[in-house]
Amino acid sequence: MSYLKDRIIKDGIIYPNNVLKIDSFLNHQIDPKVMKEIENELYEHFKKEPITKVLTIEASGIAPAIMVAAHFDVPMLFAKKTKPSTLQKDDRYETQVHSYTKNVTSNVMVSKQYLSADDHVLIIDDFLANGQASLGLIDLVRQAGATVAGVGICVEKSFQDGRRQLEEAGVDVYSIVRIEAIDNDTQTITFAEGH
Ligand code: 5GP
Repeated sequence: MSYLKDRIIKDGIIYPNNVLKIDSFLNHQIDPKVMKEIENELYEHFKKEPITKVLTIEASGIAPAIMVAAHFDVPMLFAKKTKPSTLQKDDRYETQVHSYTKNVTSNVMVSKQYLSADDHVLIIDDFLANGQASLGLIDLVRQAGATVAGVGICVEKSFQDGRRQLEEAGVDVYSIVRIEAIDNDTQTITFAEGH
């Protein structure tokens, strides 16, 4: 069993609307051993791809993305949710992302300077739910004329629509942990077989 799955079983807390809180080790307080596992597993899966850049969205994606980028020895770029005063309209790629947990839609952006047509971009995020964050990142990559090498996810909630949406967009999705069901009443998590 993966260490990440083990920690989810021990420390995950289920919230309404199928939200899993694992901020004691993944996206607030961070367990470096979880990060090491994510780094190694995502590297193993995507190492055949000629990755030139790792892309994520702030803030929770940054920690796993920097680990994976370090292993590939390429830069990590994160999409920003607020516009820096130094980034003019003509100098940025921008798209809209609806946040599953916050239920708000925001513009996210990256500087054109850091994505170009010859990039092979690996997209990383902490969770995959309905796929909106990853689809937004795919849009940014494609605006630059760059190639999406794949999407690497720490925790996929497979009962939501994200995987289907990403596969429909033609990208390889790999998730370390796949959750098949969450039961709020009994506080039970069912994992997909082999995940
Ligand atoms: P999606 O865009 O795929 O619908 O949702 C993924 C994004 O929403 C991730 O970036 C993650 O931050 C957040 N998210 C979705 N589901 C969960 C969840 O169950 N727990 C936490 N902590 N974040 C989630």
